[in-house]
Amino acid sequence: MAASVGTIVHGSVEDLLQIDLSGRGADETHWLPEMAEGFLQTRWQEEKEVFMATPRRPMWKEKDWDKAKKQQRGALRMLLEFVGAEGMTPLKTPVKVWRNLLKRVIAVEGELRTSDNKLMGRLDMLFADIDSKGQMQGWIVADLKTGRAPEHDLKPEVQRQLLLYRDILISNNQNPPPVKTEGWYTVNSTRYTAVGKSVLEDALVAWEATQPTTTPLPPKVGKDSCGGFCDWKAWCPHWWNWRLENGTLGTEDFSDAVILLQHFDAVSGSGVAEICEPANAEGRAMPTGLQIPISFDGRGKEALQELLATGHQGPIFIGSAMTARGTWRVGHWCDVLPWSPIADA
Ligand code: SF4
Repeated sequence: MAASVGTIVHGSVEDLLQIDLSGRGADETHWLPEMAEGFLQTRWQEEKEVFMATPRRPMWKEKDWDKAKKQQRGALRMLLEFVGAEGMTPLKTPVKVWRNLLKRVIAVEGELRTSDNKLMGRLDMLFADIDSKGQMQGWIVADLKTGRAPEHDLKPEVQRQLLLYRDILISNNQNPPPVKTEGWYTVNSTRYTAVGKSVLEDALVAWEATQPTTTPLPPKVGKDSCGGFCDWKAWCPHWWNWRLENGTLGTEDFSDAVILLQHFDAVSGSGVAEICEPANAEGRAMPTGLQIPISFDGRGKEALQELLATGHQGPIFIGSAMTARGTWRVGHWCDVLPWSPIADA
């Protein structure tokens, strides 16, 4: 959902940077909030349709509309500040100020690609960097960020991403002007500049390392990888064996598990699950005889019913079941997927 809110905010800001203001008076005010909200609503609906059509999804949170509005407001604040209208409210923003901003836009949502097609990035906004005398000093690559803002410096991976955009842009232009690259964080309306040497060479090394081979990458089991959220658990036997070996299988308040569903009442969502353990390194599921009451609700229940409707029988992977009470709870935050481990060999 957080990613969807990000997509919505990005889309609405990009819309606002491509509007046609012809026919409006330079001093007209009171137009921006309504237009901004209109774009946000359109993007919200579009994203909601995509979200609901995605089989593996959590719950759509209508209440996150407020978050989207807040994030959009944070972006507007930065855009206005960018053209010297610091502190100006969207309501009081005259058309001429927005026109001034639009004049600085070089590209919106552009694709950056190296000439060898190996590396690409999707640039949110590319602006002309204009000084107080109206002279162009260079370009600014601005990446809108709707996640948590850094306390001090940009995280290394964000820094690397921003520098990569800069470097691809420079590599594609014969005589590029100076290029600045910035992360624009909507949550605190703060722009963070990434500075550093070229990352292109390292990125190419990483590209080589991502080429498919017949040998899988070695698993990196551990508290910070398998111990947290990983998208691949329903297909990966390693977290399961790791948990069994260190005695933490099913012991956390939110636990991943492989179960056999012994009973399920489609009306109440309650049932009985038999806990499984890995029988071998490849993740063959072995029932343990340990049965626990389990309750499915909301999106967790829907996902189970969709799975059962496919005719699935056999082990089921449950991601992050709430285990703290006597009955395990599988809700909207949980993965419910067929257990289909892929062996390394
Ligand atoms: S669950 Fe598997 S894929 Fe995910 S972090 Fe652990 S070892 Fe890697």
